[in-house]
Amino acid sequence: MRLLFSKLAETFQELEETSSQTAMVEILSALFQEATSQNIDKLCFLALGQIAPGYEDVKIGMAERMVRSSIALAAGKSDEEIDRRLRAVGDLGTIAAKVIRIGTPRLTQDLALKKKLEVEEVLTGLRQIAAVEGKGSQELKKKKLAAMLARGNHTERKYLARLAAGQMRLGVGEMTLLDSLATAFLGSKKERSPLEKAYNLSSDIGHVSKTLMESGLEGVKKIGIAVNRPIRPMLSQRVSHLSQIREKIPSRLVSAEEKYDGERIQAHKDNGRVRLFSRRLSDVTSHFPDIVKHVRESVTARKAIIDGEAVAYDFEKDMYRPFQKLMRRRRKYDVELFAREIPVKYKPFDLLYLDGEEYVDRSYPRRREQLEKILLVSKYVEPAGRKVTEDLDEIEEFFQDCVQKGLEGIVCKSCGEDSVYRAGAREWLWIKWKPDYSAELSDTFDLAVVGAFSGRGKRGGTYGALLCAAYDDKRDVFQTVTNLGSGFTDEDLAGLPEKLASARKDREPARVDTTVQMKPDFWFEPEYVLEVRASEITKSPVHSCGWDAEEKKGLALRFPRFMMWRPEKSVEQATTVNEIRQMHKG
Ligand code: AMP
Repeated sequence: MRLLFSKLAETFQELEETSSQTAMVEILSALFQEATSQNIDKLCFLALGQIAPGYEDVKIGMAERMVRSSIALAAGKSDEEIDRRLRAVGDLGTIAAKVIRIGTPRLTQDLALKKKLEVEEVLTGLRQIAAVEGKGSQELKKKKLAAMLARGNHTERKYLARLAAGQMRLGVGEMTLLDSLATAFLGSKKERSPLEKAYNLSSDIGHVSKTLMESGLEGVKKIGIAVNRPIRPMLSQRVSHLSQIREKIPSRLVSAEEKYDGERIQAHKDNGRVRLFSRRLSDVTSHFPDIVKHVRESVTARKAIIDGEAVAYDFEKDMYRPFQKLMRRRRKYDVELFAREIPVKYKPFDLLYLDGEEYVDRSYPRRREQLEKILLVSKYVEPAGRKVTEDLDEIEEFFQDCVQKGLEGIVCKSCGEDSVYRAGAREWLWIKWKPDYSAELSDTFDLAVVGAFSGRGKRGGTYGALLCAAYDDKRDVFQTVTNLGSGFTDEDLAGLPEKLASARKDREPARVDTTVQMKPDFWFEPEYVLEVRASEITKSPVHSCGWDAEEKKGLALRFPRFMMWRPEKSVEQATTVNEIRQMHKG
């Protein structure tokens, strides 16, 4: 049975109108109950505003200007007129919904206007649009979208235009989809865990949903690791005193490792081919041709998946360089030039897969031992430096040495029998420790921007402060923790409205916890992550982070200062509410 796109568009409309995460799960699970194993993956992708798993890097790729022209074509109006309306309304979807009337003269002759759009057809159409390249491709893309727009009803057109322009922003995250799949097929969202495990290993929610419908839970449990498909990275916890490592880490023996201020890179070697994935699971192979070459030469195994950090390095001065330098390597053009200017070292620290065998369920000592066996060490690829010890004093000493070397700090890893690689999880098996943490009243946080307050006086016309939130990974919601107004340069400030424009929402986003009546002047879909330094964590009646219903207080950061944007982090990788709670407890 085929699903009409109008049904999906109505569901999107309902999702857009709700501001409750629970309601979102209900709406989506009702939709999934009407799905088939042929289309469920497509429903998942489209709800996320995607047409394929995120790591495949298949973007629909139509600039707003082109979508505008498509609307004009389908409506039989001029580009200028659509432009004028867009300036007044500000949303492509609304324009597409309103200005096109079915049967407008320019399209009636050559289109089967009466045939209703189906979900699979829309996805195929959008994939075709993404695939067209070369001369004349812009015209072709425009025409293909116009043809679909002309066939859709009001609501379908709204979401078609937004999908094509990459402006869906329904606030549906992967965890909400997993909750909805569990509700629809396993009876309750409490049953999410095996689905989540499969997703953590495959990073492909379409594959998980399809397998669930085709082969049930047993099938999902068999979903494993595959080369060329990224695994969600394991993350670390933090402590407020180094000595707490002792009580938090499950084993006596600890591997204290150098923590590099670079970019997390998961390298997949498949015979002669190497692919690199970022911590957000994007394919970053094209940015680092040098790492590709070095991994190909250094990794002796035929097929392997290695986790590690890429860090900018000054080989003349024999010194590590900061993260900001490395970020300049994230570019489309002049890649080779920048690779020469900002060379990098790749520092592998884990092995997840080797020649047909999964390593994630083996202990860390076994993974690391095997990793070292398959690496030909060179100055470009060397395993992360470390000290394996039971002695806290030795860890402290190692930490001081790392700071001396200009490193960011250390990551302490459990070496017990149960020290498995927990894909996608932030647990006590890994604990990070940075100099910031030891300086009293000074700590850094990665927060999602969820709102803004209008500026006054000198800041008129831009934002006076940003409302920032931590991530509650258990409930998949964002809880506000601070109003951030300092640390921005005048230039940063002036650019804020434009930078954040694409994430603007008319109302509070569904995944933002508004237990507290915090009312910023503007809301944003959580999309951007920034790093903040703050002096203290205090209780506050106005922020929802770690809300204590009895005391009617949450937690807030005092004296926050903006440090930098963290484009390589997804909002789900922001500092968690639990981490802030722990830090507050001290
Ligand atoms: P977090 O991502 O917030 O858990 O912080 C830990 C991050 O430190 C990892 O994601 C890596 O990108 C980075 N890192 C640098 N060196 C290491 C190391 N030796 N082991 C694990 N992570 C490291």
